[in-house]
Amino acid sequence: MENVIHEECGVFGVFSPDTKDVASLCYYGLFALQHRGQESAGIVVNDDGVFNYLKDTGLVSQIFDAERLSKLGPGNMAVGHVRYGTTGSGDRKNAQPIVVNHLKGNMALAHNGNLVNSYELRTELEEQGSIFHSTSDTEVIAYVITKERLHTKNIEDAVCEALGRLEGAYSLIIMSPSKLIAARDPHGFRPLCYGQRDDGTYIIASETCALDAVNARFIREIEPGEVVTITKDGIKSNREHCGGKKSFCVFEYLYIARPDSICEGCSVHAARIRAGELLAEAYPIDADIVVGVPDSGTDAAIGYSHRSGIPYDIGLIKNKYIGRTFIAPAQGLREEMVSIKLNVVRPVIEGKRVILVDDSIVRGTTCAKIVKRLREGGAAEVHLLSSAPKYLNPCYYGVDIDTRETLIAANHPTEEIAKIVGADSIHFLSIEDVKKITGGDGTGFCYACFDGLYPTKTPTNAEKSRFERKISTNPKFADRYK
Ligand code: AMP
Repeated sequence: MENVIHEECGVFGVFSPDTKDVASLCYYGLFALQHRGQESAGIVVNDDGVFNYLKDTGLVSQIFDAERLSKLGPGNMAVGHVRYGTTGSGDRKNAQPIVVNHLKGNMALAHNGNLVNSYELRTELEEQGSIFHSTSDTEVIAYVITKERLHTKNIEDAVCEALGRLEGAYSLIIMSPSKLIAARDPHGFRPLCYGQRDDGTYIIASETCALDAVNARFIREIEPGEVVTITKDGIKSNREHCGGKKSFCVFEYLYIARPDSICEGCSVHAARIRAGELLAEAYPIDADIVVGVPDSGTDAAIGYSHRSGIPYDIGLIKNKYIGRTFIAPAQGLREEMVSIKLNVVRPVIEGKRVILVDDSIVRGTTCAKIVKRLREGGAAEVHLLSSAPKYLNPCYYGVDIDTRETLIAANHPTEEIAKIVGADSIHFLSIEDVKKITGGDGTGFCYACFDGLYPTKTPTNAEKSRFERKISTNPKFADRYK
């Protein structure tokens, strides 16, 4: 049942006062968001209402080159997307942005997050005759908006109406022939912000690091439940869905977002440093060096070192030319890729009692391999610290967290986990402490993967292949005919 659909994505939008090479701006923005998804990417350029687009599987740099970008042509708006999804993964049909032609015009849509009611919505739409081409719930969002558009006076009103129907996590960028719209679900699970370049071009992006990449000055975050519409006449905002229980994903700080981004007013780097400091306060360990698992464990390792006084050193080197291990969704391949990706710096490790800091321990397979490598490299002791609390529950809001059966902390007590991964000791940041990492009182965040307190209803059907089952001719899904 808890085989969840996964979408860790990045979205990017451009609105320029004049016609220019918006495709390249979008390309640079997506490049800066590549860490949010490496499976597919796409750019849609709007040239006076004509949408030109290219989307494919692969990294941004593999899909786009100068020639392909120039073929997208000049325009005054663009929407881009990077995707990591395991539903129909590797499949071009799920690449975004989605482009649709509806009764009132064109629309391009880029989405980050996961709905919790997409199964019900899709079933309802199918019963009314809708035909779906993909297996991602983004197409469901596109249908809901275009249906609302039939009886609203403009696209932004249709988006506002849709917000009342969509439940779960969604940070959206929507492009119509004349408007660029940013919308965030009322809980604000995923980040979304906007800024402006000196030439007047507005930029909407998942993270501030993408604004920096295109020299845009950060203006503000889109508020949870807000719909922001950019037109030639300026910006307007609709807040009729604001005021819900804010639940920003705390895992954005620990793992997903880039350390140079600011989310909800808090630096991701600073939050990770604090997580490391809190680990040092909670678990003082007699050791010689602190080593972070690159890249997402590095900041917390520095924090541990600062607070404990134990020197930080670079004991692991990451091959920069390989994507995140999770580029390969199949577990077998993923395990092999760990050794290609990380290597030990022997002189740093040899004979040392090592404190190894990782951002999170999910299945325990990656860290087991890293601990083994450190031991092979001559480490005298390895104490493993996780800057995330114990992963006990699946995420329904867009983070690829596996079934509960494979979550190591959900199935083994702490001492047993240490034995399984081969560490001398293992410690996790406590839930009380993770609430302190952003420097506030800890309210306004979602901790469901750690504490099981979901801010919304949970999906009735969270099966990974729930939509594949609907469209597949594969005999394993034959029960759909019953
Ligand atoms: P494992 O314990 O083998 O599942 O691997 C955990 C490591 O994978 C962490 O140290 C993270 O760097 C990384 N990770 C954490 N969350 C995710 C995720 N949602 N998808 C892919 N990798 C992740």
